Amino acid sequence: MTAQILDGKAIAADVREQVQIQVAQRVADGQRPAGLVVILVGENPASQVYVRNKQMACEKVGFHSELLRLPASTSQEELLTLIDEFNARAEIDGILVQLPLPEQIDEETVTERISPTKDVDGFHPYNIGRLALRMPLLRPCTPKGVMTMLARTGVDLVGRDAVIIGQSNIVGRPMFLELLAARCTPMVCHSRTRDLADKIRRADVVVAAVGVPRFVQGDWIKPGAIVIDVGINRLEDGSLCGDVDYDAARETAGWITPVPGGVGPMTVATLLENTLQAAELHAG
Ligand code: NAD
Repeated sequence: MTAQILDGKAIAADVREQVQIQVAQRVADGQRPAGLVVILVGENPASQVYVRNKQMACEKVGFHSELLRLPASTSQEELLTLIDEFNARAEIDGILVQLPLPEQIDEETVTERISPTKDVDGFHPYNIGRLALRMPLLRPCTPKGVMTMLARTGVDLVGRDAVIIGQSNIVGRPMFLELLAARCTPMVCHSRTRDLADKIRRADVVVAAVGVPRFVQGDWIKPGAIVIDVGINRLEDGSLCGDVDYDAARETAGWITPVPGGVGPMTVATLLENTLQAAELHAG
């Protein structure tokens, strides 16, 4: 059996097109387009690429977008003051502070300062709490993007066993909440989990978010399982690979996401969805 490929680029293009159509409709109705500000502190090379991609995506769908580049020496107070200003500006619906931040700035304090209805990353404790209580508002982009991909398989997720590898605040934990809300039976595994391979072998859905190249072996995959690879790892030769041994796993899985071209494009497309959703919240 060879797995069907879940093409993140194609699904993300559909999501972006839907956002673009809705933005055009808003403008035709005399409303303003949604507005996003992206704040980058310092010169982390990977962050610069992410921020540029996000801004370009915003412009393509017709959002009002602003990019604020701040020096690495920016103090926490300066950043918090700026966030307060953007919280108060009516034409800004979403505020995204690119992580990681320099060490003098506490990420949790910054995340909590963003107004929950402008928290388009979905990281604010208010938004995570709402997801946990099955009353979601703005949902974290990567796990929400994974749910969009899972929906495209047409597979009924209700009652399925799911294993998530990785327990980070931005992927693993909200992924657990998403799958639980979809009435799967999810389990979160991490670096101290015992008998990981056995747990994965029983899973109908596997979500890998470890950050270790080709960590998940092909013979750990249950025949027909859906395998979602969130990992993005740069190898010594400069190429990218995921957390799953793709060539081996695709021989057994029913569905699999490639890296690159899988979850990555979905994260940016979902950010656009969230920004539009925030604009609708602010209008309504
Ligand atoms: P993280 O470093 O915060 O967490 C990694 C997790 O893996 C931890 O919970 C840890 O317990 C677990 N882990 C480490 N070694 C393990 C082991 N031997 N067995 C079981 N679990 C183990 O990572 P993160 O921020 O969640 O990111 C994970 C990966 O996903 C990275 O490669 C990152 O680049 C990628 N990522 C991709 C996107 C995207 O848009 N596609 C978004 C966010 C993160």
